[in-house]
Amino acid sequence: MRTAIVKTGPGRGRTEVRELPTPAPGPGEVLLELVYAGICHTDVNMIEGAYGPGSGYSPTYPVVLGHEFTARVVAPGPGVAGFAAGDRVVSGCHLTCGRCRWCRGGRSMLCSEREVIGLDTDGCWASEFVMPARNLVQVPEGVSDELAGLAEPFAVGAHAVDRAEIREGERIAIVGPGTVGLLTLGALPGYEVTMIGRRADAAQVRLALEYGAIAALVTEDAAAERGAFDVVFETAGTAEAASFAAELLGPGGRLVCVGLPTAPAAIDTAQLAWQERSVLGSRAYDISTWSTIPRRLEQAPQLESIVTHTLPLDRFEEAMRLLESREAVKVLLHP
Ligand SMILES: [Zn+2]
Ligand SMILES: [Zn+2]
Repeated sequence: MRTAIVKTGPGRGRTEVRELPTPAPGPGEVLLELVYAGICHTDVNMIEGAYGPGSGYSPTYPVVLGHEFTARVVAPGPGVAGFAAGDRVVSGCHLTCGRCRWCRGGRSMLCSEREVIGLDTDGCWASEFVMPARNLVQVPEGVSDELAGLAEPFAVGAHAVDRAEIREGERIAIVGPGTVGLLTLGALPGYEVTMIGRRADAAQVRLALEYGAIAALVTEDAAAERGAFDVVFETAGTAEAASFAAELLGPGGRLVCVGLPTAPAAIDTAQLAWQERSVLGSRAYDISTWSTIPRRLEQAPQLESIVTHTLPLDRFEEAMRLLESREAVKVLLHP
């Protein structure tokens, strides 16, 4: 048997600790034991019932929650090579077909058969769970369990960085000092990055200096920075932040949109044309992004301190409160 956190149906709450049979790994799958699971706003939205009709998500119930993890291999299923009991592994949360033009073209996030664990199918808030071996990558020894627990949101930042195709000497800004903003910063080792956020988030904006940013500005003081950046990452997820981020671009600049504002942003497209600026969307990651994640995590040991709290799985409600009150930056759950 395994202990799992199950969302039993739509609407608020309806989330409980259950003892479930441990699944047997099928062909190409691996049975894993949880080391750490992340909790993020997707999980909070799931528990609060925000993913109803019209939200763009249609979860299947009942479902074991959770999509961010570091785990240890218990048993590889039939036909699985390259993994042995005890190996530490991480992976993305997409289950994709591997055959369509998007999967074959390095953009598996666009696969029409994509399912997300913890949402469409059972996730990792469980003492044991299975994942396809093709998703998994080994965690190197130099990466702690806590740092590895950040791998999934870190991969979101890493893919955004890949989308920007940054050239040496380019000036970079990140608008939005939340977890994804800080992890995007961590995926930019050796680059000069300015973190920008609202005055209300000033403490977290300053935190970016500890993670390698060369400057930290609040939006209200950043007006002089308009036109100053070659690459701007928008990770705040508000229309205002996206509009402001576009204004920070200089000639030839690229805006990489990572956040998901609930309203359209206003962007001056004449300036896009006039200055050959580009706007790029970045959604999660491709399955191939993951082959780069172990090496990139090794280069960013400072990110480990983003994990401010660790709690047992069954105290997920306390983890939600810590996130919502902003007392925590990142909370990891353990069995
Ligand atoms: Zn997440
Ligand atoms: Zn596909």
